[in-house]
Amino acid sequence: MENKKYRSTRGDFSCNSLEAVLMGIAPDGGLLISPEILQSPFDWKAVIGLPTLDMAKLILSHLLPDFNDMDTLVHRAYKGKFETEDLTPLKQVGDKYVLELFRGPTSAFKDVALSMLPVLITAAKKQTGRTDETVILTATSGDTGKAAMAGFADVSGTRIIVFYPNGGVSPIQRSQMETQEGSNVGVCAVNGNFDDCQSAVKQAFARINSSKILDGKGKTLSSANSINIGRLAPQVVYYFKAYSDLVGLGRIRLGDVIDFVVPSGNFGDILAGYFAKLMGLPVRNLVCASNENRVLTDFLETGTYDRRRPFYRTSSPSMDILISSNLERLLFLASGCNAKKVSGWMAELSSEGIFKIDASELAIINETFKAFCCTENQTIETIGEVYRRDGYLCDPHTAVGMKAASDYMAQAGGNVPVVVLSTASPYKFPAPVSEALGIELRSDEFEQIKAIADKTGVPVPKNLSSLRDKKVLHRDVVERDKILDYVLEFLGIDKEA
Ligand SMILES: *Cc1c(COP(=O)(O)O)cnc(C)c1O
Repeated sequence: MENKKYRSTRGDFSCNSLEAVLMGIAPDGGLLISPEILQSPFDWKAVIGLPTLDMAKLILSHLLPDFNDMDTLVHRAYKGKFETEDLTPLKQVGDKYVLELFRGPTSAFKDVALSMLPVLITAAKKQTGRTDETVILTATSGDTGKAAMAGFADVSGTRIIVFYPNGGVSPIQRSQMETQEGSNVGVCAVNGNFDDCQSAVKQAFARINSSKILDGKGKTLSSANSINIGRLAPQVVYYFKAYSDLVGLGRIRLGDVIDFVVPSGNFGDILAGYFAKLMGLPVRNLVCASNENRVLTDFLETGTYDRRRPFYRTSSPSMDILISSNLERLLFLASGCNAKKVSGWMAELSSEGIFKIDASELAIINETFKAFCCTENQTIETIGEVYRRDGYLCDPHTAVGMKAASDYMAQAGGNVPVVVLSTASPYKFPAPVSEALGIELRSDEFEQIKAIADKTGVPVPKNLSSLRDKKVLHRDVVERDKILDYVLEFLGIDKEA
């Protein structure tokens, strides 16, 4: 019998983990989740102390039980691709611990998931006997696009096209994308901001599917964004890894609780921590850290999600987000897996821009989730303060987490270790980091990086320092309404035919 353990947050649809990874999103628009797997026994103590890849194999086999030979898949995804063999090193920084998630091929925390996703998609196609070419369309505000291209570059049976807002990403991020190699990748700037770009890509996606333009052409559309369970599952691993390191350091004993602070945008990273907790890891609190776009802080404090508010551009752009997609999975769990209720909330969010959950559901969420936010000034101050006090250089996203951690610790007291997830290299955001350190601003980003390195002695990741000498391969710019044409041309499909 087939093992349909994954189900939609919005209806009766269910499927196995191979289908869930291939599908990304359920046909009814819901997200795929398996409460049954999350609550089934997992011998979490058995993974503590193991090398990271062995840990990953056991955790991913539990979460995605239909995949054959997860050990091979994990090695294929990660072996030799990160700066350190343990993938995500833990560092003590003052009275906190920092879990560095940015040691991957593009210096973004998205690398942890996007190194694994192409391998999972390829394996799922093979196991289910699909031979279609997978065409990935992705809109990016900076980090996802590069990490996704690096993951999918030259993976046979796949093609990927990334769209980014023209002028809306940092110069380093743009350079990372313009120089991406690989015979199956396409990159294109779109005139407009990220919201314009994202909605235009979604529209192109929907039009291609509804017009059945790809039918009979051996191609299937897919997406690399964080609603895919194949992106979420690999992120669960580093929560266990951090715990294991604290046991190894003698800071805690097996069974003691710890807290995590997570700089959040789409809510995928922090939700993976909740999955770890449901699987038995002794996590006390998960602290959601937001920048000035504090829609999640307000929701976790009041139970009302209200996106009708100004959108701020901050120095932590990957968290500039007002619609936090992965929250839907938490709402599903907190409502006792009530798909009807979740669909109702999502419909209200889309039509009115607001929804409210019940006090009882908020209470369940608040048993684990706390929330703090951080202003732009505080972000810059924190980068400077942490550097001067603790000798640690953090990027603006991590700084939001560090500030939230300090505020949380002042409130919580006690001696429970606090781990802050660090989501990007400081060298991806040289301007705000320079401002925090009192380094003069230059017009050339690579000179800026060098000035930071000269002052701090923190090594520049090779993938960033080598960018300067790389050839620009992608210069395309399109208007929003030309995305569909761009995709069809890239795929060599005649629209009129
Ligand atoms: C994506 C991203 C985040 C937010 O993670 P979510 O899973 O979307 O909450 C935080 N920091 C950086 C640098 C990111 O790229």
